[in-house]
Amino acid sequence: MKKDIIFKILTIFSDIDGKNAESQSLTQLHCPPLCGICCSTSRKVEASVIEMLPLAEELFRRGEAADWLERLSQVGDTAPCVFYQPDPLISGNGRCGFYSWRPSVCRLFGFASVKDKNGKPILAACIYQKKAFPALVESAGKAVAEGLVSLNFTDFSLQFSGIDPYLGTRLLPINRAARIALEKYGLEMQMADSQHFSKGDR
Ligand code: SF4
Ligand code: SF4
Repeated sequence: MKKDIIFKILTIFSDIDGKNAESQSLTQLHCPPLCGICCSTSRKVEASVIEMLPLAEELFRRGEAADWLERLSQVGDTAPCVFYQPDPLISGNGRCGFYSWRPSVCRLFGFASVKDKNGKPILAACIYQKKAFPALVESAGKAVAEGLVSLNFTDFSLQFSGIDPYLGTRLLPINRAARIALEKYGLEMQMADSQHFSKGDR
């Protein structure tokens, strides 16, 4: 796997995090502490394969790739994300096991906007944020509508597509995207190794 592709993806993640921090600082919108309901219960989290490549690289670096591949091969497309680590003591609480490597949807969910049929941005807040902080969600929604904050899903999706129109555009269930990314990363490592050895044999 070319290092520059991973670097580009990580740069977009960093940009998302920076813009999200600015946006949250302005709106004060946040999630209830330790809430992990979206990760633990959602069966619809989707990501592009390209966004899972940094995680694949990290799993290979840790020597955990084979174990995770085995686990990912045993779950179906509607299973919750395998990377979620539930809090053993408090139901509904937990955390992402690979927070620094999570894909863009996990960075943006609850804070980013979508465009309505007229192209105007609408805050896509999470129902648990709405329940916990209705006034904050309302004021954040106004800030988005007035253009004071701009954090849009589509803007970042286009950047991933720009890196690789196929792997960066098609959204798959997150576990499947992670499995394909691991397989792709492993295959490219093998190919790089075999090229290295065949050059060395000459
Ligand atoms: S996005 Fe919603 S479900 Fe997910 S952590 Fe925030 S409040 Fe909880
Ligand atoms: S990658 Fe992390 S943040 Fe994203 S769904 Fe899985 S556990 Fe949640």
